[in-house]
Amino acid sequence: MINLITAPRGTYDIMPDRALVWQWMESTIRQVLLSYGYGEIRTPIFEHTELFQRGIGETTDIVEKEMYTFADQGKRSITLRPEGTAPVVRAYIEHKLYGVAPVTKLFYLGPMFRQERPQAGRFRQFHQFGVEMIGAESPVADAEVILLAHDLYHQLGLTDLEIHLNSVGCAQCRQAYKTALTSTLKAVADELCTTCRLRLDRNPLRLLDCKSPSCQAAVSKVPPIQDYLCPDCDHHFKGVLALLDQVKVKYKLSPKLVRGLDYYSRTVFEIINHDLGAQNALCGGGRYDGLVEACGGPAVPGVGFASGIERLLTTLEQKGKLPELSGAPQLFVLPLGEQLTAVAFELATSLRRQGFFVELGNGTKSLKAQLKSAHKSGAALTVIIGEDEWQAQQVTVKIMGDGSQKRIAAAELQKEIASLISPLGKKYQ
Ligand code: AMP
Repeated sequence: MINLITAPRGTYDIMPDRALVWQWMESTIRQVLLSYGYGEIRTPIFEHTELFQRGIGETTDIVEKEMYTFADQGKRSITLRPEGTAPVVRAYIEHKLYGVAPVTKLFYLGPMFRQERPQAGRFRQFHQFGVEMIGAESPVADAEVILLAHDLYHQLGLTDLEIHLNSVGCAQCRQAYKTALTSTLKAVADELCTTCRLRLDRNPLRLLDCKSPSCQAAVSKVPPIQDYLCPDCDHHFKGVLALLDQVKVKYKLSPKLVRGLDYYSRTVFEIINHDLGAQNALCGGGRYDGLVEACGGPAVPGVGFASGIERLLTTLEQKGKLPELSGAPQLFVLPLGEQLTAVAFELATSLRRQGFFVELGNGTKSLKAQLKSAHKSGAALTVIIGEDEWQAQQVTVKIMGDGSQKRIAAAELQKEIASLISPLGKKYQ
C-alpha cells in the first residue's frame, strides 16, 4: 500500500471556509495599518542565511536551532525567513530608503518558518504581520508603535489584553547588567538547569526567560535591569511610560521581559492574552537601534512589533469576535433540461460579469435534485428556467429563505435580481 502523504509536522492547510476568515483578517489588518501611515512591503520568503545570523544574533534560539537552512544549487546558504524584521531592514538598506525620508514606516504580512516543537499556538509555518518604524529615536515612536498594536486589537474587539513592558537598555547598560547577572549566577550555577548553565557565558539574558523554578529563583537574586540603565536609557523609558499614561493605556512593567532576539535595545514589549495558555503572547516587539548598522546600513534607529495571526484568530474565536462569513453563492441558475443549458450558461455568464456570485445547475438533473443542491449551497436566490416558461420568454425567481417564488419576463430578470441582492464584485467592463 502507498503511504499517505500528509502536510509536514507543524504545518496545516487553510481550507476554503477557513480561508474566508483569513481573507477578512488580512484585509482588516492591511486597512488599519495603511490608515496609520504604514506602506506594505513584501520581501522574499527566503534570504541569505547570513542576514539572520547577523540580524537576529548567533546565540539566539532561532539561529542556533530553529531555522530552515539549506544550500541551493549554487551552494549558497539560504534560510526560509523565521521573522520579518531583518528582511525589512535588509530591503530598507538595499533600496536606500534612509535617503528618501527621515522616518520610514513599513508593514509586512506573511508566512514565517521556525523548526520549533509544535504545540497549541506554535507551528513550524505560521503567519505574522508586523510594523517597522525606522529612523525615529524619540520615545514617541515607541509609544506610537505600542499603541498601534493596542488599538488594532481594540478595533477587532479585544479589549482585555495586557501590555507587558520593559527596557533592556543600550549596549553599555546591558553589558553592566550581563556582568552582574553572570557573576551572581555563576556562584549558584549548580542550581541552574543544564541549558541555562550553558547560556551563562554565551547569552546570560536568556536566563530571564527560563521557566524552570530553580532558575527563576536564582535570577530573582539579581537586581532588575532597570537598576543598570544609563541616564539616557532611563530617561527614554520613562518617556515611553509617560506617553502611555497620558493616553490612559494600562501596562505592566515586566523586569524579566528580554525577548528572544538579540537586536532589541531599550523598549521591549509583549501583548498577552492569558486565555491562550502557555503560548500566550499575541505580539512582541521593541526598539532595535543597532540593527540597521549591524546589517550594513547607516546608524539609524528603529522600533516595531510582530504579531502572530494564528494566535490572533484563536483569541478572536475564544472571545466570539470573529464575523460570520459565508462562502455561499448568491444565485443558482437552474436549467430544466439539457436543451436549456446554453440559455442558463449565457444568463449565468452575464450575471457573473455584473459581479454576482453565480452557480450553474446541472440541466440533466431533475428540478428537485437541482433545488436540493441550491439549498445546500446556501444560495439566496434561484432562477429556474423551464421549457414552457422559456417558450414564453419567462423565468421563475425563487427566494430560498422563505420559499416564495414568482414568474417574471426574462427581460425583467436583471432588474428583479438587482432589487433583491447587490453584486459582490466589480462590474465586468
Ligand atoms: P517573535 O517573532 O518570536 O517575537 O514572535 C512574535 C509573535 O509571533 C508571537 O507573539 C506569536 O504571536 C507569533 N509566533 C512566534 N512564533 C510562532 C510559532 N512558532 N507559531 C505561531 N505563532 C508564532
